[in-house]
Amino acid sequence: MAPLDLTGEELRAALATAADYVAGFVDRLPYAPVLDDHGMAELLDDQELRRPPPESGRPLNELLQLVDRAASKGHNTSSPGMIAYSPGGGIVSAGIADLVADVLNRYTGQAAPSPALVAMELDVLGWMRDLFSFPASTAGILTTGGSMATLSAVITARAAMLPANFLDGTLYVTSQTHHATAKAAKLAGFPDTAMRMVPVDSELRMDPFALQNAIRADRAAGKVPFFVTASAGTTNTGTIDPLPALADVASANGLWLHVDAAYGGFFHLTSRGRQRLDGIERADSLALDPHKSMFLPFGTGCLLVREGSSLASAHSVGTGHYLADLRGASLPDFADYGPELTREFRGLRMWLPLHLHGVGAFRAALDEKLDLAEYVYKSLSSMPSLSVLQVPDLSVLVFKCRSAAETKALLDRVNASGRVALSSTRIHGELVARMCVLSFRTGKSRVDEALELIREQVS
Ligand SMILES: *Cc1c(COP(=O)(O)O)cnc(C)c1O
Repeated sequence: MAPLDLTGEELRAALATAADYVAGFVDRLPYAPVLDDHGMAELLDDQELRRPPPESGRPLNELLQLVDRAASKGHNTSSPGMIAYSPGGGIVSAGIADLVADVLNRYTGQAAPSPALVAMELDVLGWMRDLFSFPASTAGILTTGGSMATLSAVITARAAMLPANFLDGTLYVTSQTHHATAKAAKLAGFPDTAMRMVPVDSELRMDPFALQNAIRADRAAGKVPFFVTASAGTTNTGTIDPLPALADVASANGLWLHVDAAYGGFFHLTSRGRQRLDGIERADSLALDPHKSMFLPFGTGCLLVREGSSLASAHSVGTGHYLADLRGASLPDFADYGPELTREFRGLRMWLPLHLHGVGAFRAALDEKLDLAEYVYKSLSSMPSLSVLQVPDLSVLVFKCRSAAETKALLDRVNASGRVALSSTRIHGELVARMCVLSFRTGKSRVDEALELIREQVS
């Protein structure tokens, strides 16, 4: 046996050690601090933690203790109290899938070496295609996140809509659009001046008339409007842009409609979500983040493209001779759908939880988040010294005290509790507190704790 290999018996023992560690971590989650930065400088200087790899190895349990020490500080994004940023929580069954996929170590960059595994990943993509009522022509790919999905969307639209010299192309976003679109445009070679900021209405939604006007003005100035990002749940406030009206403007003007559903997309599994996300099915491309509203561990995004051939023609360059033997499966090659060639069996971390827990478990969890968001909205609205800025479209709430200093103090004190973490953002330049109820682990009792902490501070 090679020195790097483990016998079956050794592997079972190692997995038992690892299982003890991760199960213990999960058991302690309800009591573990959500935020803890005390002693971070010392931790970063910890000589045992930071030492170079030894010539001969060390026992697994010692190494896992080091990992645990490193993970003990900072943001505990797995905690039920994590209601800051966009926390999915990380369902553990996806971790089991990762372990299995990594041990099998099959190559899925092209379909021929593992057709049936690639087919399983295509079935996960097909499930999403059907969920969002996309047509049979759709192609999709699991990426590592929403930013990578957005990059491929911009590149696909650029290739499909613009001439080889694309520098006159213009892209339309709002002040509320996630910066993933601006970053994608930058990486795709567009100058900063290609980005257009379309005004929002009083509820922070992209104004379709303003979009129409901006397109018209750009055309008159010799520009080539080609891409608009509509948000299906903004990061700041969870607000859904008027998707049907934006789809009308996009199609009347021949623009590519990209819908950024990285945060909000999977609320479509619920009946409330489906109603509110009406129009999402008209997107030319759709970015999703299973590591947010499907609760997967970080590292899974998704892009669906309505006209699948455009995804392939933007990303495919034909095959190198060294890969010729791997061509020829009747299934598509993921390498033609994104920048990556070699990739892991990424689909299993979504396939396994979907089949293990069933779709209903995800629907119920997302319905619970919508219920909790409504409950938080009512509760915060009843606190006289707070103002809640919007009725939540999904599960993000933004609220403020009478002054920015008080809002800041509220955030500091709540976050110092170690029980819940809130984050802040700026709306119209003003500091606001932000709560995002999204983790599958966040239930009513932890939300009540958050409300109690807020109430104590503002009363
Ligand atoms: C998180 C997010 C992104 C970026 O996705 P990553 O997975 O972090 O790369 C883009 N858009 C929205 C609305 C998001 O919430």
